[in-house]
Amino acid sequence: MKIYNAMTRRKEEFIPIEGKNVRMYACGITVYDLCHIGHARQAIVYAMIADYLRYRGYNVKYVRNYTDVDDKIIQRANMLGKNAIDFSEEQIKETEIDMTGLHVTDADIYTKASEYIGKIIDFVSELIKKGYAYPTEKGDVYYAVRKFPQYGKLSHRKVDELLNGVRVEIEEGKKDPIDFALWKSAKPGEISWDSPWGKGRPGWHIECSAMALDTLGETIDIHGGGRDLLFPHHENEIAQSEALTGKKFANFWTYCGLIKINGEKMSKSLGNSLTIRDALKRYNYEVIKYVMFSKHYASDVDILDSDYQIAESHLYYFYTTIQAMLDFINSYGGNESEEGLADDISGKIVSDFIEVMDDDFNTSAALANLYSIFKYANASMKGAKKSNRKATANTMAKILEELHKAYTVLGLFEQDPETFVVELKKKYLKKIEVDEDYINEQIKKRAEAKKLKNFELADSIRDILNDKGIILNDSREGTTWDVKALYKIGG
Ligand SMILES: [Zn+2]
Repeated sequence: MKIYNAMTRRKEEFIPIEGKNVRMYACGITVYDLCHIGHARQAIVYAMIADYLRYRGYNVKYVRNYTDVDDKIIQRANMLGKNAIDFSEEQIKETEIDMTGLHVTDADIYTKASEYIGKIIDFVSELIKKGYAYPTEKGDVYYAVRKFPQYGKLSHRKVDELLNGVRVEIEEGKKDPIDFALWKSAKPGEISWDSPWGKGRPGWHIECSAMALDTLGETIDIHGGGRDLLFPHHENEIAQSEALTGKKFANFWTYCGLIKINGEKMSKSLGNSLTIRDALKRYNYEVIKYVMFSKHYASDVDILDSDYQIAESHLYYFYTTIQAMLDFINSYGGNESEEGLADDISGKIVSDFIEVMDDDFNTSAALANLYSIFKYANASMKGAKKSNRKATANTMAKILEELHKAYTVLGLFEQDPETFVVELKKKYLKKIEVDEDYINEQIKKRAEAKKLKNFELADSIRDILNDKGIILNDSREGTTWDVKALYKIGG
């Protein structure tokens, strides 16, 4: 298995430190508001990586933190007249609701900054003792960046280059602009804890170093987060952890790309900061996952509204086909353990899936593979002659079995196909403002017109429905209808 490592800027063979055990840490969410779709991507991506590693036989210990002590949280809590920790606790509950809604696999351990204060103080004290950090008269503690000569190795830049373009805040007692806060003295009205340097609270970067050390040990296999965390957050984590332990902090540095929405950076002021809550009201969770998995996790992406519609039409096609396969199996007694078609492709589904996923978790290639599988299934059922219907049904059963084996790792095809299709159709009918009863009435009228050989009327009914976005399919069993917008790729 190969994973792209931002430290070496190469795809590297993934070999865990200790046999089949994988220690993974991904920086989580600062809980000061409802989560948006960028948080969803990051959570979905790291859950997928943990799930896939387990699928490949690794024992994964996946740790994710909640930053529950932070400027934004304190500000928001003060505004609401709430205690900062109570407020972030509420926000964590809201986040959990969103993650459950997205069907994201839980991390094995969730850590919170507020529960690590003692360990953070110990960590900072040790860094001071070793000469990597210094307290100020005011009661702040800073990390002395130039004491750690490897600083900048993840960003591949020297300290002075890193300073360029970074807003440097002049702080009392700070010896060098590049130094960063490990401990911040309390300002009036802020939540604070007692420490050897007076009342205060931890800086942001130190919590991840303390939590990773505590839950996973000195060196971890995979560290991750959003790409915006590479500098300074992860550079600082490395400086803290490696100065303390003298060991390499993480073997693989992975990054989830950033999200733009309809061409613009997500921001509240632009009004395009789609919350997970709103996204789940608009789209089935599998549609959201499909959109995320259709892009490689590390790429920065521009998500358009049409991406969700494309995902809907693709999933519609897949689920419609799955339903047709189930019906076919039902009719002709398909069994996955019996002999299938001569050109049966089911044996390759899992191996193809593993091949692309082993290549730096290439979910977009894994999704692309689905088209040929479902195309084959449709063509086989359509072309099945009386003599090979049973063999076709057996192959359909094998395909469903293998699809399930592979794609449940991505959380796909877990839902009842009929319900999924019906719900999506309903949603689109509402969108194009067409009533289902009206469609059925028109189909009946058309059948009567045909019976009376009034083909002109029959055709005009079909055209009117077509203009409204409904297409009709005639077959021996009668006429069925479909929503044009969903039918695009299936047709
Ligand atoms: Zn972190």
